[in-house]
Amino acid sequence: STYMPADDRYDAAEFRRAGHSGLDLPAFSFGLWQKFGPGYSYDTRREIVLRAFDLGIAHFDNADRYGPPHRAAQEFFGQVLARDLKPYRDELILSTKAGNPIGKSPYLKGASRKSLLASLDHSLRDLGTDYVDIFYSHSPDESTPLEETVGALVSAVQQGKALYVGISNYQPDRAREIAGLLRRAGVPLLVHQPRYSIFDRRPERNGLLELAAAEGFGLVVYSPLAQGLLTDKYLVDIPDGARARDSAFLSPEVIDDTYRQRAAALNKIAADRGQSLAQLALQWVLRRPEVTSALIGASSVAQLDHNVRALDFPPLTEAELAAIDEHGVH
Ligand code: NDP
Repeated sequence: STYMPADDRYDAAEFRRAGHSGLDLPAFSFGLWQKFGPGYSYDTRREIVLRAFDLGIAHFDNADRYGPPHRAAQEFFGQVLARDLKPYRDELILSTKAGNPIGKSPYLKGASRKSLLASLDHSLRDLGTDYVDIFYSHSPDESTPLEETVGALVSAVQQGKALYVGISNYQPDRAREIAGLLRRAGVPLLVHQPRYSIFDRRPERNGLLELAAAEGFGLVVYSPLAQGLLTDKYLVDIPDGARARDSAFLSPEVIDDTYRQRAAALNKIAADRGQSLAQLALQWVLRRPEVTSALIGASSVAQLDHNVRALDFPPLTEAELAAIDEHGVH
């Protein structure tokens, strides 16, 4: 069937400026890390992506690794782009990343010029697009000089293969150095992608939030629901089809009594506000102005519809934030 996007897709959608750049990103971005390979229904995967676009989620986050298997999520996205979204390419922000291992070859891992630029070319072929909007160095690589990594990011922009660049999972000290090198090369760092949630406070503790404000880059924060732990789905047991049952990245062992007590207490705070734990957790990361976008995943359209309503509630009060700290900090 022919896809026609919702006419009202920008009416309720909130967009936020990424640092000191000229680019706005949607408050929610959609990531295709897991459950976007051929092991899952093509129709469901396509419906989720198209529903996201209908909701004003114009930013799709990919990486060479996503699927599973590696490369599959981008191949899938390329199919949807060709079939449905191509007429709207100018309205899309497509991101990809390189440098995490995707094979045994020394050129299929790390932040060398070879690894990053070969991966980017491959991703452009998989996605079926001439350029991505944001190209990331996926992870720090201590064995490669920062200048080489930065040079590869700059080349990607100079070659017209990326409009902006980002980094992910870098500690603040190296992020500061990279921001400086990129600025001097005339390709300012657009965004940093760290993990951040009620359960993972590192960006608050290690100074990354302050650095983002000082250096003028935005934060696109991943796993704001702690992969689903910050929803009500694991309060009683592990439902069929849930990530903690079938993913290599979320062990069922984390769903223990301590977890259940913390999640139940947070769930109560959310319920008192008339919202779900998932909605509370998303609102929580977006309360910080340094956070440009919350990067979410979903395995159904219903999850997506539910989660984007997180912005329909009043701001969190000081008392609520303190209560969340009481239960959310390990
Ligand atoms: P989330 O923390 O938002 O977890 C999303 C998952 O939680 C869903 O796939 C679903 O899993 C479950 N879920 C979502 N909403 C609900 C709901 N309302 N009720 C019950 N369960 C729900 O984010 P992700 O961990 O998926 O990460 C998001 C994106 O961030 C990734 O796709 C990727 O783009 C990026 N990322 C980047 C990394 C990096 O190194 N730069 C690392 C990790 C992620 P299910 O239904 O399967 O249980």
